[in-house]
Amino acid sequence: MNFAPQESDRLKALPPYLFVEIDRAKRRAIEKGVKVIDFGVGDPDQSTPKFIQAAMVKAIKDAQNHHYPLDRGNQAFREAAGIWCKKRFGLTFDPSAEILPLIGSKEGIAHLPLAWVNPGDVTLVPDPCYPPYKSGTGFAGGTPYLMPLKEESGFLPDYESVPQDVLKKAKIIFVNYPNNPTGAMAPRSFYEKLVRWAISHKIIIASDLAYSEVFFGKEKPLSIFEIPGAKEVAIEFHSLSKTCNMTGWRVGFAVGRAELINPLLKVKSNIDSGVFTAIQKASIEALKNSFGFSKKTNMMYRRRRDLLVAGLKELDFPVKPNPATFYVFTRLFKGAPDSTSFCKELLEKTGIVITPGVGFGAAGDGYVRFALTVPEPEIREAISRMKKAFK
Ligand SMILES: *Cc1c(COP(=O)(O)O)cnc(C)c1O
Repeated sequence: MNFAPQESDRLKALPPYLFVEIDRAKRRAIEKGVKVIDFGVGDPDQSTPKFIQAAMVKAIKDAQNHHYPLDRGNQAFREAAGIWCKKRFGLTFDPSAEILPLIGSKEGIAHLPLAWVNPGDVTLVPDPCYPPYKSGTGFAGGTPYLMPLKEESGFLPDYESVPQDVLKKAKIIFVNYPNNPTGAMAPRSFYEKLVRWAISHKIIIASDLAYSEVFFGKEKPLSIFEIPGAKEVAIEFHSLSKTCNMTGWRVGFAVGRAELINPLLKVKSNIDSGVFTAIQKASIEALKNSFGFSKKTNMMYRRRRDLLVAGLKELDFPVKPNPATFYVFTRLFKGAPDSTSFCKELLEKTGIVITPGVGFGAAGDGYVRFALTVPEPEIREAISRMKKAFK
């Protein structure tokens, strides 16, 4: 063939996909007959609750739901999302103007820079982080400026040390607490300072709240809108994926004042046509019943966490229990190689898949992430395999 198709520069500029090699090694192990234990992906192992499935079956049979969803999506879904925010955070949003359904929150997060970033602009992005903050910025022609998250600072970014010349070009700062991959939560004081700072520098805060319902202590994760003044500068992203075991359904929503929501809607109406209405209708039931459901799943994740953390301690990982999310993020034990080599070695020796911290950004090197989406018997088996290999 004479035609060698050339990818766009924006695709070529994406960092190499670090998980490919691990994926390959995983497949090789499976082919060899190894029973692989996969702590890799952050995708709940449990199925979507029956009551949501039942609502979907009903919604799908209604022909009214078979058409293009209207631009802002289903009014009843937006109202249910508003009631959810009121119950959970005591916050009031206008369902007609301040709530926007998304095809999963990833979609909204990745599209957000297209609404605000011009070529040459900058977004402030935590390192390590959920990858779409960086790729979405790059697709819009912007440049992510990385703010290292250090364990000794509670994995909170030091945005005050961002240089003036970068700040002048900064349009958006991404924050994500409870945090993937570190499992950290942010205190109220962090949000209070952040809101004041963002208002004074005229920078939009994009708050990713995908894990707002996955927490283990008495203190609930905050919405940034619980901070007075936040509405001026913030847009917040919610997801049903982790809360209700609905990762495959692709549904979430953004909240914020109309001036911050509408440009994202403008992007979306030129690219997609919204969330399947039957999914929005089924999600109303999910939103109505999510609190009781997530209480149960949190008890399950907590048991898994305690089991895994105890085992990792015996293996000399300097691990601390995560207060929220279903991720155990830990520095490697002394003498371990870099995080990618360690993950490869672990897979070859034990058939266990985990994610190298460097896959989320350079500052994640030296760390690894275990997703607690694995049942207890397999966690026990994984610990015993690791003890045999490393002790
Ligand atoms: C899983 C995840 C999301 C998004 O999930 P959706 O399924 O797209 O709603 C967003 N942010 C973080 C940090 C996540 O881990």
